[in-house]
Amino acid sequence: MITHQLPRGFTTAILHSDRDGGIEHGALHKPLHLSVAYGYRDARDLAAVFQGRAPGYIYGRQGNPTSAALEAKVTRMEDGVATVTFATGMAAIGAVMLSLLREGDHVVASRFMFGNTISQFNTLAAFGAAVTYVDATDAAEVERALTPATRIVFVETIANPRTQIADLARIGALCAARGLVYVVDNTMTSPWLFRPKAVGASLVVNSLTKYIGGHGNALAGAVTDTGVFDWTRYPNIADSYKGAAPAMWGLTQIRKKGLRDWGATLSAEQAHHIAVGAETLALRMERTCANAQALASFLDGHASVRAVHYPGLPGHPQHALAKALFRAGGGLLSFELDAGIDCFDFLNRLAIVVSSSNLGDNRTLAIPVAHTIFWEIGAAKRAEMGIADQLIRVSVGIEERDDLIADFAQALAP
Ligand SMILES: *Cc1c(COP(=O)(O)O)cnc(C)c1O
Repeated sequence: MITHQLPRGFTTAILHSDRDGGIEHGALHKPLHLSVAYGYRDARDLAAVFQGRAPGYIYGRQGNPTSAALEAKVTRMEDGVATVTFATGMAAIGAVMLSLLREGDHVVASRFMFGNTISQFNTLAAFGAAVTYVDATDAAEVERALTPATRIVFVETIANPRTQIADLARIGALCAARGLVYVVDNTMTSPWLFRPKAVGASLVVNSLTKYIGGHGNALAGAVTDTGVFDWTRYPNIADSYKGAAPAMWGLTQIRKKGLRDWGATLSAEQAHHIAVGAETLALRMERTCANAQALASFLDGHASVRAVHYPGLPGHPQHALAKALFRAGGGLLSFELDAGIDCFDFLNRLAIVVSSSNLGDNRTLAIPVAHTIFWEIGAAKRAEMGIADQLIRVSVGIEERDDLIADFAQALAP
């Protein structure tokens, strides 16, 4: 086989990634490696792998060849240095925070984030790492919140459900100037719409459960190091993880502390599902984003809709930023029904769209935000975050556009 380096586009690279390490038995998909343990003929080789002097596998909790193949794909998608996968996106975020922070450290995070991430950060705060939440659409707010103890700035690209967009490039410049680890959760955009490395992200988090997997049939998460951050400047790396090149220090600690010690490991079967889904990420995103743009425009002009939040609409507060940074407006929108319409009755009238809490599925899913995913935080916090009782979040799928618009039209008809 000729292996000289031709340039590879996004999808070409994903489709042919598994063959780079040599094809096992001619299989075009990376095989599922289900062995928990890995044996060595020479016990010295086992010791070398343990000591990080040789690549290899030891015990399934720290990874297996199937999840490693997925890690290689995500690394390519994000144009990074290396990736560690986890059982879920939340496990990936938790591993970053637990392995990089110490008591007394400080984190600045966006106020507009996935609810479970905020809940997780509040748990961290109980263990002695302080978290300050700011309006990250304004980099000046991030800057004002920094203290000498700040180690990490954490933002999402497009916030769910109100679709606020963090001031990604300015925050990146700020983190570079201050030597801070800049973590960007790229789940809502996916690496097809946006590569956080372009704005100076140190670590990129993806919930692979969402767009990268895409089919709503497997949970997984990933952390990718972009190679931007200089880990020799980070105070919390254990000496035992400084054997490798400095570019690998952060992820080595995240794999050892966050994955090996806490154990939220991605199984080979789940990694396989995600890897198959990832092959069509670009195709699905193109269709999803085109559908979302059309649906947002339809809802925007509708008499029974009070407001529509979608970055692809010219009236969105960060529309210009979205156009400058992202390939398209994304697959998620939210809208406020008129006060006279009961949001549960509306959702029950939808025939194709499913009432469900996931996002990034091929199927279009909708959820009454205040009554479900933002119920636990209470009315006061919801008001602060701009979550109205009548807010419906829609994760737009890949159905035919006209079918979707017809479904919303009949459900909104008086
Ligand atoms: C869903 C989601 C997560 C968590 O991912 P899971 O795989 O469900 O654990 C994290 N961040 C964002 C932005 C998400 O949408």
